Amino acid sequence: MSDEANPYESLKEQIDDAAAYLDADDGVITRLKNPQRVLETNLTFERDDGSLETVRAYRSQFNGDRGPYKGGIRYHPGVTRDEVKALSGWMVYKCAVVDIPYGGGKGGIAIDPSDYSADELERITRSFATELRPIIGEDRDVPAPDVNTGQREMNWIKDTYETLENTTAPGVITGKALDSGGSEGRVEATGRSTMLAARETFDWLDRDIENATVAVQGYGNAGSIAAALLEDLGADVVAVSDSSGGIYDPDGLRARDVKDHKAETGSVSGYDDAESITNEELLTMDVDLLVPAALENAVDADLATDLEADVVVEAANGPLTPGADDVLTERGVWVVPDVFANAGGVTVSYFEWVQNRQRFHWTEERVNEELERTVTEAFDGIVEAYEDEDLPNLRTAAYVVALRRVVNAYEQGGNWP
Ligand code: GLU
Repeated sequence: MSDEANPYESLKEQIDDAAAYLDADDGVITRLKNPQRVLETNLTFERDDGSLETVRAYRSQFNGDRGPYKGGIRYHPGVTRDEVKALSGWMVYKCAVVDIPYGGGKGGIAIDPSDYSADELERITRSFATELRPIIGEDRDVPAPDVNTGQREMNWIKDTYETLENTTAPGVITGKALDSGGSEGRVEATGRSTMLAARETFDWLDRDIENATVAVQGYGNAGSIAAALLEDLGADVVAVSDSSGGIYDPDGLRARDVKDHKAETGSVSGYDDAESITNEELLTMDVDLLVPAALENAVDADLATDLEADVVVEAANGPLTPGADDVLTERGVWVVPDVFANAGGVTVSYFEWVQNRQRFHWTEERVNEELERTVTEAFDGIVEAYEDEDLPNLRTAAYVVALRRVVNAYEQGGNWP
């Protein structure tokens, strides 16, 4: 893998870019570029035909200076040790930028879940939960959903943990179903913060989000909900895509209908009278707002030179390579970074965990209000750093804000042992 395509290299570069503006000890910055520990494990489980199969799984606990490790678990064939390390590091800075009391972690299993039955996925998940049991816990490390995982997997992990520990500990994991201790608004939270990030940015730039044209790359949980909520603000979602390709309608697509079409047919392709386009055509479309909402490295430096959107709001984690970032900064394209824009997911995870600890249930209205307050305050903090400290772009500003919080927490505790 080239360095440009290695997300862990991207993370380290992003930290270095921000550290240049901080008065922090080099030794502390080195600490903050390396995970505290990474579990690598091989899960052997029984297939439905009785044969045994072994798959690779990871959990990286990147940093716990501000609280329990926190972050999702993804099921994807592209999961590697370095990817999980990068994703866990991004969680540290994400939790710090929105100022919730967590460190960062991430896990993954290198499988394509569509190759397995639900029973097989349950056995894989419970096997992983058994491996994770000694290192997770309500106050230790709190996993959550990520790519290709959701309430079902979280419920299995909670049940495995509680059964083995002979206790009830709903806050050991977030993103659970409502009847298993989940929170209102959690499913929509990543898309909702993406929408709020776009709204705040357009407002700050003195541009109208109403009638703004939008292209969304990736139509899973984050992309489809962001698209629907942006439409609610009056934006025109003209193009969306998933791994099967993209669709385009200059008159606007109706995001919720596209979501229904994908739920019925498995992809966005073939929706209504929309024109088929490639993912590359979508990413370089002349729109006001581009929302990459799929995986890492969707836009590299080459593609960034052809990108025509004015604003990019990152719903995915790490969708732009550092090379792409440099090109877009140079070209004056506004990039609203992942660690802020998609932080709604972990923020409502935090609300879920608080509710679990309190044995109390908040209304959806309260969840959404607290989320909106968290996102707008974080945005104001990023913009203040960007303007007052003369920083090159919003990503570096977000990292400066976040790194400062993590460095302070670490230094206040002191280096021991
Ligand atoms: N997987 C989500 C993320 O990348 C959510 C993590 C969480 O809720 O802990 O932010």
